[in-house]
Amino acid sequence: MKIICVGRNYVAHAKELNNEIPDEPVLFMKPDSALLRNNDPFYIPEWTNEVHHEIELIVRIKKLGKNIDKKFANRYYNEIGIGIDFTARDLQNKLKDKGLPWEKSKAFDFSAVICPEFVPVESLPDRNAIHFRLDINGKTVQEGNSALMIFSIENIISHVSKYFTLKIGDLIYTGTPSGVGPVKIGDRLEGFLEGHKKFDFLVK
Ligand code: ZN
Repeated sequence: MKIICVGRNYVAHAKELNNEIPDEPVLFMKPDSALLRNNDPFYIPEWTNEVHHEIELIVRIKKLGKNIDKKFANRYYNEIGIGIDFTARDLQNKLKDKGLPWEKSKAFDFSAVICPEFVPVESLPDRNAIHFRLDINGKTVQEGNSALMIFSIENIISHVSKYFTLKIGDLIYTGTPSGVGPVKIGDRLEGFLEGHKKFDFLVK
């Protein structure tokens, strides 16, 4: 399986990092070795001093597809989850300045937190307006709603599948809302999807 991530998919987040609003989805990938499952603790790597949390909605692909038309894209997933796209912001800024690929800052081991259980799309109050949030040490730091995405889930699936064949089990991290910031040792991160807690783990 592969993990495809969308960058800059919420206007307020693109602005907080001084990025332009993209006219097509910004894509990058993480390898399967990036997954952090089962509420396992996250260990800050020794080579960075600034790891940011980015809470994101995750789509799990259920059907093989290539060049998927936007109007059929909703047939390619039926479960939604949440997770964190951990980003070594100090290293990412260095790589961006040099015009180099981001991989080391984005795709490192355990940088892709995934909630233990996904939710069927039919159980959501509105599949086009999915609410999610991240609390750190009991305080809400990021809140998002998929209705505010620059590129909808259907748009993303269609765009991604022009370049990469989607396979069963592939994951798409759909971008983070504003409010990103550093994590520190001892932090407790709790993620909520429509008010229900979906992950809960510690930073070590
Ligand atoms: Zn992200």
